Amino acid sequence: MKQLVILSGKGGTGKTSIAAALAHLASSEMRLVLADADVDAANLELVLAPTRVEEHPFEGGSIAEISPDKCVACGVCEEVCRFDAIIPGDRFYQVDRLACEGCAACFYQCPEQAIQMIPQQAGEWYRSDTRFGPLFHAHLFAGQENSGKLVTMVKQQARLLALDTGADLLLVDGPPGIGCPVISASAGADMALLVAEPTISGVHDLDRVLATTDHFGVPARVLINKADINPARAEEIEAFCREREIPIAGRVPYDTTVTKAMVNGQPITAYADGPAAEALRRAWAHLREALRS
Ligand code: SF4
Ligand code: SF4
Repeated sequence: MKQLVILSGKGGTGKTSIAAALAHLASSEMRLVLADADVDAANLELVLAPTRVEEHPFEGGSIAEISPDKCVACGVCEEVCRFDAIIPGDRFYQVDRLACEGCAACFYQCPEQAIQMIPQQAGEWYRSDTRFGPLFHAHLFAGQENSGKLVTMVKQQARLLALDTGADLLLVDGPPGIGCPVISASAGADMALLVAEPTISGVHDLDRVLATTDHFGVPARVLINKADINPARAEEIEAFCREREIPIAGRVPYDTTVTKAMVNGQPITAYADGPAAEALRRAWAHLREALRS
């Protein structure tokens, strides 16, 4: 089983449209498991129309809670809390739930064992059926920050099912940018497809995300999306890739049918035979060969 992760240096590069097209193309040739690892903005489901078959809570961390009947108002917890999350009182102390970072220092230091660490639900993860294969996806509640951990959970579950069912490919739609969720999405991948756009920051964004995939030893391919909207910038990206010896998986031209396909809940390759769909078919052929070698 191979694992292909789709990443981009920043959001809005068309990564999810490309992931949906590749899911469509790959599923007609092989058994596929899908993971939407962009848990802060899970969009793949908008195109894949999943039917939810499992729903699980995701616990992101714990926060402290003080038992008023055990607390003797000694003030030790206030002293050890580096986040000013303890609210003093005459008879007992309380925790400011919004300020608490869950470090548990107060829990260990309270002489009266008046503090408990209470696990908090930070989101949910789901297993769904789609016409292209099972999809694992998630929703992180507003204000929660544990997206790296949730991405790991989504990917682990997807990987387990892919191994159990003998799937050929685990296709991961990764989060944009860099940082913890991207690290979680890239870990263990056989290949990363980096989606770049010919913009002012195109090369810079690509360089940043490459630092992550290089760090994990994940071989990368680059797909230039909307390649014809700024040929000079597209050439800049290509020159950068030549210099770094990163193969180009394809150049997808700007095509208004891509948006129309998304609005109609379809991958572009299932919706129309325009230039973008053609380019994506060629890109998939390239990736399929690259994954085999
Ligand atoms: S350390 Fe324990 S007993 Fe002391 S104020 Fe805090 S919760 Fe109360
Ligand atoms: S768990 Fe940490 S952050 Fe929260 S109240 Fe206790 S010491 Fe402060």
